[in-house]
Amino acid sequence: MSTVKRHKVILDEKEMPTRWYNILHDLPTPPPPYLHPATGQPVGPADLLALFPMDLIEQEVTTAQYVDIPPEVLDVYRLWRPSPLYRAHRLEAALGTPARIYYKYEGVSPAGSHKPNTSVPQAFYNAKAGIKKLTTETGAGQWGTSLAFACAQFGLECEVWQVRASYDSKPYRRLMMETFGGVVHPSPSELTAAGRAILAAHPDSPGSLGIAISEAVEVAAQSETTNYALGSVLNHVLLHQTIIGEEALRQLAKIEETPDLIVGCTGGGSNFAGLSFPFLREKLAGRMSPVIRAVEPASCPSLTQGTYAYDFGDTAGMTPLMKMHTLGHDFIPDPIHAGGLRYHGMSPLISHIYESGLIEAVAKKQLECFSAGVLFARTEGIVPAPEPTHALAETVAEALRCKETGEEKVILTALCGHGHLDLPAYGAYLAGEMTDHSYEEAEIRDAVAEALTRLPSIPG
Ligand SMILES: *Cc1c(COP(=O)(O)O)cnc(C)c1O
Repeated sequence: MSTVKRHKVILDEKEMPTRWYNILHDLPTPPPPYLHPATGQPVGPADLLALFPMDLIEQEVTTAQYVDIPPEVLDVYRLWRPSPLYRAHRLEAALGTPARIYYKYEGVSPAGSHKPNTSVPQAFYNAKAGIKKLTTETGAGQWGTSLAFACAQFGLECEVWQVRASYDSKPYRRLMMETFGGVVHPSPSELTAAGRAILAAHPDSPGSLGIAISEAVEVAAQSETTNYALGSVLNHVLLHQTIIGEEALRQLAKIEETPDLIVGCTGGGSNFAGLSFPFLREKLAGRMSPVIRAVEPASCPSLTQGTYAYDFGDTAGMTPLMKMHTLGHDFIPDPIHAGGLRYHGMSPLISHIYESGLIEAVAKKQLECFSAGVLFARTEGIVPAPEPTHALAETVAEALRCKETGEEKVILTALCGHGHLDLPAYGAYLAGEMTDHSYEEAEIRDAVAEALTRLPSIPG
């Protein structure tokens, strides 16, 4: 008798979670506060009001276990949520593994990634506070696209500084941002003091997320009706992304599975946190015990090679000081194809949880990642964004370990975006023109050590 394989678990709209989960409530110890760079004192709400609306500032610090998702946000979420959870039967078969591999697919969103999960509430709370325009940075263009879409939903203007390397190599992302109504500048730009300073020193600068953040923050800080929106790193962003894990928990419960391993890629940490934090809550409560593993690029290895120290979130040093795993705020990583993972730091919350020993981290080189991405495309039929190919590379490696040991591990991974606008990267890989990175490991270590000599000192 043949049995019909189940490929995906779909939740009904009525089953969509209506609350975000806040892990600050359940951590054994709280993370260190953000500090004011001039005084060395913890940052208060008043310090953040120039950039963020009060609702988001409150979400940044609240220790309530859950935050209700506003009905207006739920209504936009329903355009693509709940997102599907897939069992990767065909990838498993190709690998010959006894492991059961599941992936939560966020590529069904308007931007093709998980980012609208936070851009939509951020635009909503800003519009509610009377703000007229949001500025932001974007790497590969995913976040800029997501914010442009969200601003269009709530009648806000959107101005985006896109890292020069991506601006040049990914023209379709810019067109998508513009289609959603956004205005896009390459970064570094002549429009800001931060951009002009970088260009004066390095006229050919490929840019970095840190530089683009400096530019967007500078512009937002100068106007009462303009705010800034960050696509990752901060607590409120991670909070919004937990809808991913809350859905996945329900989906796995429906088929009576519990994960043994959860794998996600980490740039600033938001898709990884979004999937894993609700499972970490279950783990801390003793209801399951998955290993939770972050995967970062070998050429931007903040968790595995960075220092846990107070640093700026941007290159020019305009943000509060955040204690995080950092490569140094002026570290400029290789222009690898996973533009969304080229951030010098890591979410302070993820960093704290990593220091607490609750999660693991590994680093992967891009050829292994694209090899896994191509295998995934050929078996499962989805071309992954370059970022989640890092998680897929680790998933494949783990599934092959299971093949050796015969372990029937349940692996859950975040397929946080599709790669339809990243096809030139696949083209380079398929043509055999992709290299792992120009830095050798020792050079990375030296570049990091050098950038770390410029960590800010804490006043007071
Ligand atoms: C932005 C982005 C990332 C990196 O950001 P995180 O906050 O670490 O999730 C990863 N994957 C995709 C598809 C992205 O768009």
